[in-house]
Amino acid sequence: MSLVTVGSVAFDAVETPFGKTDKIIGGAGTYIAISSSYFVDKQNIISVVGDDFPQEMIDKLADKGVNLEGLQIKKGEKSFFWSGKYSNDMNSRDTLVTELNVLADFDPIVPESYQSCEYLMLGNLSPAVQLKVIERLRKRPKLIAMDTMNFWMDIAMDELKKTLKKIDVLIINDDEARQLSGEYSLVKAAKVIREMGPRYLVIKKGEHGALLFHDTHVFFAPALPLTDVFDPTGAGDTFAGGFMGYIASTEDSSFENMKRAVIIGSAMASFCVEKFGIERIENLSVEEIKDRIDEFVVLTDFDMTHAI
Ligand code: AMP
Repeated sequence: MSLVTVGSVAFDAVETPFGKTDKIIGGAGTYIAISSSYFVDKQNIISVVGDDFPQEMIDKLADKGVNLEGLQIKKGEKSFFWSGKYSNDMNSRDTLVTELNVLADFDPIVPESYQSCEYLMLGNLSPAVQLKVIERLRKRPKLIAMDTMNFWMDIAMDELKKTLKKIDVLIINDDEARQLSGEYSLVKAAKVIREMGPRYLVIKKGEHGALLFHDTHVFFAPALPLTDVFDPTGAGDTFAGGFMGYIASTEDSSFENMKRAVIIGSAMASFCVEKFGIERIENLSVEEIKDRIDEFVVLTDFDMTHAI
């Protein structure tokens, strides 16, 4: 088993009804790598940062088993910066700033040691970069999953459609599914999107859970009702990291196992939102994760014997 993650490693500034942060560590690649590290011992990242990115964070990722040979550090350049503000119910957010900086001309390097990778997680990045990584792997991985966002749909729809043809699993949220398909019904949207390429589609609905579509099958996982939600940033990436980390560790990409992966992704995302940035997911224990997964089992357990 080997997992390669591609995604931004960045700085974020976030505003929610509960507070505001200055520049903190963020980036889709960061969240994915931290989340999947609880399932895979070793993984590989492809990304780029400027020399303003703290070495301490790079060391932390290395401690979590992340091979950083594919992380480029650009001298004299600035890391990607994103800033967002959440609505009062935290179900929607506005992007206030996207400074691509080092991402503007990012040319992903796929080190030789990554070439035999079997699982590829393409985190939110320009679809042209995502496609380059697929093309630079000499052997196609067993499973390619991908995330994207409205930003790329607005400015790079043609490239996005090309990349979608090459992947197996697309993981996006409900707004993105509607924008990509032009359909309001998520069932209709799922059909349209799967015709664009991915055989599997996960649609995340924030506090309303996540749907997994494949062929004629649909699976639904609720989100855990939480007492405290501070910052939803990175929840989608944390979901993707848990999902793909679990698939890679079990080496099983059947629909049945993907259902388990959706629950694991949902459990990991539920931690992420409890604090700002990566604070809550940085140092989880295996016990905490197991207990959280059990909460999902209890939440969805019911006995219908003799009900009708
Ligand atoms: P999520 O809340 O799961 O959608 O992910 C938020 C993370 O995505 C933040 O940490 C940002 O740094 C990162 N991000 C936001 N916009 C972009 C973008 N256009 N390209 C790459 N990463 C992004």
